[in-house]
Amino acid sequence: MSRPKFIAGNWKMNLSLSEGRKLAEELHKYAHLHVAGTPVKVLICPPHTHLTELSHVLAESEVKLGAQDCHYETSGAFTGDVSAPMVAGAGAHYCLIGHSERRQNHHEPNRIINAKVLAAMRSTMTPILCIGETAEEKKSGKTLEVLGNQLKEGLAGISRDQIGKVMLAYEPVWAISTSKDNLGQPATPTDANHAHAFIREKIKEMFGADEAQGMLILYGGSVKPENARLFLTQNDIDGCLVGGASLKKESFIGIIEAANIPQ
Ligand code: PEP
Repeated sequence: MSRPKFIAGNWKMNLSLSEGRKLAEELHKYAHLHVAGTPVKVLICPPHTHLTELSHVLAESEVKLGAQDCHYETSGAFTGDVSAPMVAGAGAHYCLIGHSERRQNHHEPNRIINAKVLAAMRSTMTPILCIGETAEEKKSGKTLEVLGNQLKEGLAGISRDQIGKVMLAYEPVWAISTSKDNLGQPATPTDANHAHAFIREKIKEMFGADEAQGMLILYGGSVKPENARLFLTQNDIDGCLVGGASLKKESFIGIIEAANIPQ
């Protein structure tokens, strides 16, 4: 089964609304000329406050829109939070869930992350469940155990029929450019591919062989135009989740171009 190459940008808490609008317009123009009709998919995940405006800029665009998080309840006394129906209503078709910055800074356990995955699906968004080990867990040889648990607990309650609507991102925390945990370099493409193959095998055990073959698994952690191709040519890496390099037109387009070279 051939899977598309999926390049997703996570803007985090960066870019003003006008900076974001300008970048979205530039990406839309580029994608219209160079991405339409190719097996490459492009997604940007701006801050919640930018979604409505960017959904107008990107209406009918090859560039899709996602949120960076959502609450698991539909509404209620959750000051400062934004629910899945709210971000979906603002134009998000995808939603990052369980990013390591949410797990670390907001102490989100797998149980809450699972509730958010289910909430995103109820709002007909595609959840992108982010998983990955910390430097400490890597050092103590726990990487595969951590990934296995994050998958088992993060995907609890999802049926075989529903799993095709979920995407995964493997982001070793120590490889994220801005992480306190950063070890100063990305994962090697072969090590990343090894983790991806393990993840695909787990999906096979949990949901079945076809479901595992169809699953899109992105790699995230210090991806740049210079190294993107090395990741994107690995068998089990279906795209990249990009933080820092998604904030500038040149670097994000450089990564999209790396995805757009036939293998
Ligand atoms: C991220 O935090 O999702 C990420 C991949 O960041 P960066 O590309 O900057 O390492």
